[in-house]
Amino acid sequence: MNAATTDPLAVLLALTRHLNEEPGLDEAVGAVARAGLQLLGATRASVRVLDEGGARLLSVARAGEGAQDPAPPFDARRGVVGWVIANIQATRVVDCAADPRFEHFPHQRFTMRSMVLAPLHMGPRVVGAFAASHPTADHFTARDEALAALLANTAVARIEQARLERLAHTDELTRALNRRSLLPRLTQEIARAARYAKPLSLALIDLDHFKRVNDTHGHLLGDRVLAEFAERVRETVRTADILVRWGGEEFVLVLPETDAAAARVVAERVRAAVATRTFAGPVAVAQTASIGLGTWRAGETPKALLARVDAAAYDAKAAGRDRVVIA
Ligand code: GH3
Ligand code: MG
Ligand code: MG
Repeated sequence: MNAATTDPLAVLLALTRHLNEEPGLDEAVGAVARAGLQLLGATRASVRVLDEGGARLLSVARAGEGAQDPAPPFDARRGVVGWVIANIQATRVVDCAADPRFEHFPHQRFTMRSMVLAPLHMGPRVVGAFAASHPTADHFTARDEALAALLANTAVARIEQARLERLAHTDELTRALNRRSLLPRLTQEIARAARYAKPLSLALIDLDHFKRVNDTHGHLLGDRVLAEFAERVRETVRTADILVRWGGEEFVLVLPETDAAAARVVAERVRAAVATRTFAGPVAVAQTASIGLGTWRAGETPKALLARVDAAAYDAKAAGRDRVVIA
C-alpha cells in the first residue's frame, strides 16, 4: 500500500485544521481532493459536490495527474460515482475492466484500473462524492476504502456548510449570484478597487422583448433561454468576473480590474454571444440583449454606479436594443 509513506492521521489532522478555518466551497473540496490523493497513494482524486436538485455539480475539484484536463461530463446516476450516490456507501473497484458499475468515458485520455470511492453524506442526504483512482488493477485495499469513508466523514460537515452558503447566494435557474448578493458583493469589489487603485466596470444586461419568448414559446423555454444565456456569459468572461441575476431577465456583470476600454470589449462580446447564435430548444429562439455599461468613478457609491448603468441600459432600449450604451 503506497499510503505507508504518509501517516493517515497526520493527513486527516492537517485537513481538519484547514477546514476549521472555514474555507469557501471550492477551496474546501480542493483540500479534500489533495488530502485523498496523499492518504490513498492514488494518482488521481476528485471531489464532486451536488447542487440543490442533486443532479448537477455545484463544485468539483481534482488533484493529481491531469487535474487541469477538461472535466469529464457529470451524471449523478451514471458510473461508479452514480452507484455510490445511489447506495450511500463507500466502495472499491478492484478492476475497472471487469466491474459492470464502471463506465468508460471515451474522451478520457487516461486509463484507470482501480478506484476507491466514498459518498459525502449527512445521514440519508448525499451532498457529493469522493473518488480516487490508480492505473493498475487491485491497487486499493479494504483499509483504503475505510480511509476514504473516514476522509469523507471528516470533511462533510464543512463542505455542507460551504455548500449551503453557496446555495444561499445562487440563483437556481441560472447559477448566477442572486439579487440579494449583488450589493454586498459590489460594495466589496468597489472597496478593493479603491484600496488598490484598480479600475472596475459594471454592466447591466437586459434581454430584449423577452416577454415575447414566454408568450410565443412558453415559460419553460423562456427558462431555458435564461439558463443558456448565463452559460454563454460565463464562457465569454473571465472567472474573476461576477454574474448576478438582478431580476427576471436582467443581469448585472461586475468586471473587477477592468477599465472602460476593456469593459467595452467585454460588453460587446457578451452582446454578440447572445445575438449571433440562436438558443436551442424545441424551436430555435433568436434573442438579443441591451447593455448599459459604466466604469466606477472615485467616490461613487455602489448604488449610484448601478443607477448609472441602469439608465444606460434604458437608453440602449430606447435607441433600438441589441446594443451597448456607455453611461
Ligand atoms: P424589453 O426589451 O423592453 O426589455 O422587453 P421585455 O419583454 O424583455 O421586458 P418586460 O420587462 O416587459 O418583460 C420581462 C419578461 O421577462 C416578463 C417575464 O415574463 C419574463 N421573465 C421574468 N423572469 C422570468 C423567468 O424566470 N422565467 C421566464 N421564462 N420568464 C421570465
Ligand atoms: Mg427585457
Ligand atoms: Mg427587464
